[in-house]
Amino acid sequence: MSESIDTDVLIIGGGAAACRAAIESADSHAKVILIDKGLFGHSGCSGMHIGWDMAAGYPFAKDDTPEIHFKDTIRAGGYLNNQKLVRVFTNEVGERMLDLERYGNIYARDEKGNVICTEGSGHSRMRFITPALLVTLKEEVRRRSVEIFEETMISNLLSTKGTVVGATALDIKKGYLLVFRAKSTILATGGSGQLYDWGTISARTTNPTSNCGDGYAMAYRIGTELIDMENVQFLLGVMYPSQLAGIVVPIADQRGYLLDKNKVAFAKDIPREEWNRARAIKEILALIKQGKGSPHGGVWLDAPRAYREWKEKGYVWHFLRLQVFADQLKTMGSDLVVDMIEIAPTCHHFMGGLVINERCETLVPGLYACGEVVGGIHGGNRLGSNALPETQVFGMRAGKYASKRATEMNEMPEIECKQVENEKSRLFNVFNRKGKFRQHFVRHRLQKLVWNNLGPIRNEDRISAAIEEIKKIKEEYLPRMYVQSTSRTYNREWIEALETDNLVCLAEMVARAAMMRTESRQAHQRSDFPETNNENWLVNIYIKNCNGRMQLFTKPIIETEASLE
Ligand SMILES: Cc1cc2nc3c(=O)[nH]c(=O)nc-3n(C[C@H](O)[C@H](O)[C@H](O)COP(=O)(O)OP(=O)(O)OC[C@H]3O[C@@H](n4cnc5c(N)ncnc54)[C@H](O)[C@@H]3O)c2cc1C
Repeated sequence: MSESIDTDVLIIGGGAAACRAAIESADSHAKVILIDKGLFGHSGCSGMHIGWDMAAGYPFAKDDTPEIHFKDTIRAGGYLNNQKLVRVFTNEVGERMLDLERYGNIYARDEKGNVICTEGSGHSRMRFITPALLVTLKEEVRRRSVEIFEETMISNLLSTKGTVVGATALDIKKGYLLVFRAKSTILATGGSGQLYDWGTISARTTNPTSNCGDGYAMAYRIGTELIDMENVQFLLGVMYPSQLAGIVVPIADQRGYLLDKNKVAFAKDIPREEWNRARAIKEILALIKQGKGSPHGGVWLDAPRAYREWKEKGYVWHFLRLQVFADQLKTMGSDLVVDMIEIAPTCHHFMGGLVINERCETLVPGLYACGEVVGGIHGGNRLGSNALPETQVFGMRAGKYASKRATEMNEMPEIECKQVENEKSRLFNVFNRKGKFRQHFVRHRLQKLVWNNLGPIRNEDRISAAIEEIKKIKEEYLPRMYVQSTSRTYNREWIEALETDNLVCLAEMVARAAMMRTESRQAHQRSDFPETNNENWLVNIYIKNCNGRMQLFTKPIIETEASLE
């Protein structure tokens, strides 16, 4: 067996959740290793924004309270949220935002010194603030003794007697297998927009290439439970001009600036509290179906009017951000201040993920999780700007409890050599296959299938077609999937083949859960069951690997204080 690299806490991921977990673990005097598939500080969804919004709430917004933020979050989630986790989130989010200030982030303030809070759809209070999140966190991690492995892909978790004891990894630069042995392991691999990828005209996801569902698949293989996997959030990304495809414009959430084919605003009268991402996608798809969409199959976004109005009204922060954004897009040949653009639904966020408790423990001892890879907090629909603050609340908790477990353990756990050997064969086997299907063929086939059948609107026929085809991909394509280049160093095709394996596993989870939920609720819309059915479906769908079979079952929602209104 390859020699193992030992640590107290192993953190998988380099985004905002992983960074916060690393800071907390290091401050608790644990030895910490952080593994990032990409370049540290530049990978994952967290690395995509310098200044996006975070729903900070109390104490920043003076008329806000954790209770109000809690209620907004549950209502947007269609009451599927784990209320224990939401309570932790809204109680602690303000403190975590103050941490960022302690780390050196500077918030925009008004002349009285109050942090400027702005509005966002679905939120009943002006509670958005805008930190330079990953830049701040990255520097803070670097200040501590955290060993960082960049361009290293964790391929599988290792377990001994039902406890996670570390993970295997591929050093992308050198093509070596690495073995990490850990007292506690934290999974923070983010979501998986790459399940959808590119369509014919527009990008089908806002997510970067790193987000391929590795975490969900690894967690499934190790036998922990996942929840709400049917709930995938779609947001409005640019679809035309095509050079901007997939980009999220900061105002695309604002109902007043969305126009139909005649350039008439169609959603401006919907009350702010009722306007969230799930509602926006539903309204837009209905409009497109009636033939009232824009020429390339989306809707118009009146960015020039937003720009003018915000300038006139003195909405300094909104206005400045749009200006910065417009300046960036100018270099790509489009002027947001002058031109309307077309926007359309694109995959943005996974509400589903690993089941955790308030200590971020999964159902497998030794394994913790935080960030977008976790399920249950956002229920059926995430409120805009609740994701990044959530990474801070649960990243901190994962670091705290994982390092506590590690520092209380006297000895390093044992690793079973056979598991490492098996994993080595799995990783290198792709070079020996007399394959028939190149990896990109398999991946694109899957992505197209997923977009067509598991996109924003689903029905039984489409989901069954998806399940059938996923089975075929699993049984016929994956065993014969090969890579052209046999190089071990920086072999992108090899990495993508491993990711494609994970994406197929994730696609099956989404499809089976989508089939099971025979109702429409928030992000999960079924044309054959258009109504929300609280009598039968106010439950969560769980997924577990039972001896290689994907088992789905329901449990009542975790309701502690807010019942359906
Ligand atoms: C364009 C865009 C704009 C957004 N804007 C906002 C916003 O304004 N407000 C808000 O609240 N939310 C926003 N979100 C959502 C938010 O960014 C994400 O939910 C959040 O960043 C997730 O953080 P994370 O740390 O869990 O995962 P990520 O930041 O996605 O990080 C995942 C990490 O895991 C690593 N990784 C993955 N697989 C492996 C593996 N096998 N081995 C090793 N490492 C691995 C990746 O390299 C990456 O470092 C936005 C998302 C996008 C895409």
